[in-house]
Amino acid sequence: MEYEAIIQAASEARERAYAPYSGFRMGAAVLTTDGQVVAGSLVENVSLGLAMCAERVALFASVAAGARPKALALVSPRTDAELTFPCGACLQVGLELGGRDMVVIAVGTDGEREQVVLRDLLPRGPRKG
Ligand SMILES: [Zn+2]
Repeated sequence: MEYEAIIQAASEARERAYAPYSGFRMGAAVLTTDGQVVAGSLVENVSLGLAMCAERVALFASVAAGARPKALALVSPRTDAELTFPCGACLQVGLELGGRDMVVIAVGTDGEREQVVLRDLLPRGPRKG
C-alpha cells in the first residue's frame, strides 16, 4: 500500500509520544508531495493548554522540511470505541497546507485503519483560494 511507510513511521512516533498526563499516546506521520516521510509525536506539558497534537507536529515539520503534506497517518488508541481521527485544529492546519484532497488515515493500535480525504472530515473549513 502506498501509505505503509507513514503508517509505520506514525506507529514508531507513537512510541515516542510524551504523554505523562493523559497516557493517550498518539503518533502521526506525513507523506510529503516530494516523497519525504515526516513524523510527529504528541507532546504534553504540565501547563495542559500547551500540549500539541502529533498531527500538527508532523504537519508543521513538513513545512520545515521544505515540502507540503500529501497524506497524514495517525496511530492512536480509540476514542469512545471509534477510530480516532484528527481534531478540528489539526484538520484546519491540514486544509491550509495539504488542501481538501489530502489523504487522512486513522489507524487503531490494533491495526484497523480507515482512509478518507480531508474534505470528508472538514467539508466547509475556511481556506485560501
Ligand atoms: Zn489535533
